[in-house]
Amino acid sequence: MGTIQEFKRKNPEEKITRVGQEVERMLVHLDPTTPRSGTSDTPQRVAKMYIEELCSGYEVDVEGLFTTFGNEGYDGMIIVKDIPLVSLCEHHLVPFVGHAHVGYFPNGKVVGLSKIARVVSAYSRRLQIQERLTNQIAVAMEKNLTPRGVIVVLSAEHLCMTIRGVQAPGTKTITSAVKGLFNENKEQEKEEFLRLIM
Ligand SMILES: [Zn+2]
Repeated sequence: MGTIQEFKRKNPEEKITRVGQEVERMLVHLDPTTPRSGTSDTPQRVAKMYIEELCSGYEVDVEGLFTTFGNEGYDGMIIVKDIPLVSLCEHHLVPFVGHAHVGYFPNGKVVGLSKIARVVSAYSRRLQIQERLTNQIAVAMEKNLTPRGVIVVLSAEHLCMTIRGVQAPGTKTITSAVKGLFNENKEQEKEEFLRLIM
């Protein structure tokens, strides 16, 4: 098993080639008619999709995303809601798809709004479970912004629940992580957040 440093050193083409070889072997077991013309480019295409898109978050320097600036006297709640979320369930390697809502109370400095969406993307483009993903976003906000409070709510539909197993399409899983003043029995702030993301 390689370390994360070794993983980052490997160049992208090498990773795509290696993953492509594994996908090619897998296809033979899944479909007795492969390889055939329709699937001849599938291994490389699938490998590229996993490396360059679905698992691209490992390459992102999350701390580097937190370029901050002064809050210009604004110290109310800041909410970025309905951030599209596409992640990959680490148990089944199928996507879970939904939205993230992130709110915080600044403590003198604020982060660019688009950067919050980038943080969500950096952690979701990995093998995940929704619970850990929720917490990682909240921890990154807390560590890099030291806000007075932060709240993260994720709502997602898991394909491993809709195309297999219990097969319950439309089921949403909602998770939340709260830090700082949101965690201190401040029902008013929590209610305000929930009202605003509805
Ligand atoms: Zn799953």
